[in-house]
Amino acid sequence: MTETETTGTVSGVEIVLDTVTKLYPGQRDPAVEAVSMTIPAGEIVVLVGPSGCGKTTTMRMINRLIEPTSGTISIGGRDATAMNPDELRRGIGYSIQQAGLFPHMTVAKNISTVPGLLGWDRKRIAGRVDDMLDLVGLDPGEYRGRYPRQLSGGQQQRVGVARALAADPPVLLMDEPFGAVDPITRGLLQDELLRLQAELGKTIVFVTHDFSEAVKLGDRIAVLGNQSRILQYDTPAAILAHPADDTVAGFVGADASLKQLTLTRVSDVELGDCPTAAEDESVETLRKALAGRDWPWALILDNHRRPLRWVSADQLADAQSLHGIGRPIGNLLSLRSTLQDALEALLADQNATAVITSARGEYAGLIAIETLVTHLSVVRDEHPDKSAATVAAAEESGGAAEPESRP
Ligand code: ADP
Ligand code: MG
Repeated sequence: MTETETTGTVSGVEIVLDTVTKLYPGQRDPAVEAVSMTIPAGEIVVLVGPSGCGKTTTMRMINRLIEPTSGTISIGGRDATAMNPDELRRGIGYSIQQAGLFPHMTVAKNISTVPGLLGWDRKRIAGRVDDMLDLVGLDPGEYRGRYPRQLSGGQQQRVGVARALAADPPVLLMDEPFGAVDPITRGLLQDELLRLQAELGKTIVFVTHDFSEAVKLGDRIAVLGNQSRILQYDTPAAILAHPADDTVAGFVGADASLKQLTLTRVSDVELGDCPTAAEDESVETLRKALAGRDWPWALILDNHRRPLRWVSADQLADAQSLHGIGRPIGNLLSLRSTLQDALEALLADQNATAVITSARGEYAGLIAIETLVTHLSVVRDEHPDKSAATVAAAEESGGAAEPESRP
């Protein structure tokens, strides 16, 4: 997340771990050993590291689902180890893989759990349930009465997030919350979380073993080794540019320069454009708009300016109407998508072009490979110490594949 996106309200509080250790009964070595870190108020801090390194143990000590063996944790200046654990947990939203919803309760009941414990009256709870469903992009009328089994994996995760946010806790703990959904849904849920966070400004501790996810979501990333030893704790940009040691470098991957693409959002680059027309408009108008252009593609939109299909000058030549002609667009991206998402989308598109939509789904512009190449060369110029070879390779393949001028 970039600086500009975190300038909204901050409702979160600072969390400080001081030499926190967990030795499980019967184990020789601690699962977590002497971890100290400060998680700033209103930021997303991602704990990333291999399976078994102690991420879940570290996270669950924050809400005392696991009691630390030694060390202290303070949340908003209060000593968490001295608080009543139930009271502590009411101030901390918790969302886990598989959403962890109660299967025998409706969506509404699931979301009401903590507000119910807090003794809110029924009307306030009902209003809150609907607000939370709206917030995570589910229509309350359609979903509040459903049971978890009647939802897709992605929808269950959304409800899981809604439930975690229901009592408006300043702190949110998320343990691989999007681990069980397909990559496209995961990308959308990540976008959604960033949108929510820009509004809410919670303190979010997010656990993942996926470094790309960490780079996309984190204001700061803690790269963890065995026993949750902190190998590096810094911003995504700093870790990508200067991995602290070989272990971190290995984790970051050889393609660190290309990973720079995950640091930039579609909204941060200049978008290309092409002629567009609503389905009901005349073929002739669109034909004229395309005349004389090097790149013979246009977009057909619906009446709300949402992209429907690509159409070529050839296809328009003998068409009577814009209804039904052209071919489907691949995955639409949002302004919050990363350039890495754009790269994947354009590689999957026959026109090698990603179509971007606004928050309301309206056509916003296009991204072609040149946009990405330009961005990487700017990054390389700004950070000449980075792996220039990787950037050059990307530039070469992009440039060679598509010599003519593009949107
Ligand atoms: P991660 O979330 O990074 O995969 P965990 O925190 O779940 O790691 O586990 C860290 C280590 O602690 C692992 O070696 C795991 O086997 C061990 N562990 C986790 N929970 C328990 C438990 N309840 N009892 C004993 N050992 C545990
Ligand atoms: Mg875990």
